[in-house]
Amino acid sequence: MVSKVIVKSPSSTANLGPGFDVFGLALDAYYDKIQLEKSNNGIKIQTSDSIPLVPEKNSAGLVVKEMAKKFKIKSGLVLKINKGVPAGFGMGSSAASAAAAAVAFDALFDLNLDAKTLVEFAGMGEKASAGSIHYDNVAAALLGGFVIVRTNPLNIIRIEPPKDLVLCVAIPKLVIPPKKTQVSRGVLPKQIKLSDHVRNLSNAAAMTAGFMKQDTLMIGSSVRDIIVEPARQHMIPGFIQVKENALRAGALGFTISGAGPSVIAFASKTSNVKKICTAMEAGFKSAKTKCQTVICKPSKGTIIL
Ligand code: ADP
Repeated sequence: MVSKVIVKSPSSTANLGPGFDVFGLALDAYYDKIQLEKSNNGIKIQTSDSIPLVPEKNSAGLVVKEMAKKFKIKSGLVLKINKGVPAGFGMGSSAASAAAAAVAFDALFDLNLDAKTLVEFAGMGEKASAGSIHYDNVAAALLGGFVIVRTNPLNIIRIEPPKDLVLCVAIPKLVIPPKKTQVSRGVLPKQIKLSDHVRNLSNAAAMTAGFMKQDTLMIGSSVRDIIVEPARQHMIPGFIQVKENALRAGALGFTISGAGPSVIAFASKTSNVKKICTAMEAGFKSAKTKCQTVICKPSKGTIIL
């Protein structure tokens, strides 16, 4: 049995417009790298990034704690976390750490857990960051590609994205408020009109079909959300301008990445992705906000190094 494992896990975008709390897509924009090593006693976190060091408050620490409890592992553990995914920007940062921790623990103790069980443990880690368990980002980060999350009972459906799908992400330079995810959930409507539900559902269904048919144009045209996006867009400076600019520059679809404040434009290999990024930067600039843009592709998910 090995005494240490190193794992890397990607960033991800959740919702993809109409699939609130259901859809996730792994992105090869950024990666977290974690090392899990046996030690004398307790669970210790080592990192130079500004994330919680207390295991219960750290998404990876909480996963390791829950897994050690479940499998009655008495050994001490040291978790070294090297963040690549910026925390709090809607890029699935805590999820990347949580997914990496679940895979590392499984490998270190030769558990051979199935994918669904690993997603279940990784989802527990989200309690440390978002306050509640949720699976969209962790399922994408762990399995890679496009995922559909069904709950009660948990069921994850993974679909391989089309090869020509390209994403342009803009990460605005904003100060992220504490409990951002809870705040951005707080602005959502408690009730919705049936006709709005029908429109979002038709787009979610079309998006699933787009991934099944490997049809990037169909995916892009399905990124339409008339429920969550209108309720959250005021939290992102210049949102309307950024969206308009991206679509005018040729983006196939555009929405908020997860709970924001990052935004994501869907494009294909034939799109002018540099033009889309420049257009998004100009949109944020019109609201006196700087942003960092990144062109990326779907990621294959978590891997053991
Ligand atoms: P996002 O999905 O928008 O990146 P997160 O769900 O990752 O947002 O939440 C970020 C919050 O989670 C930050 O306040 C951060 O301190 C906390 N957090 C706890 N553990 C981690 C971790 N291992 N990596 C990143 N953020 C973490």
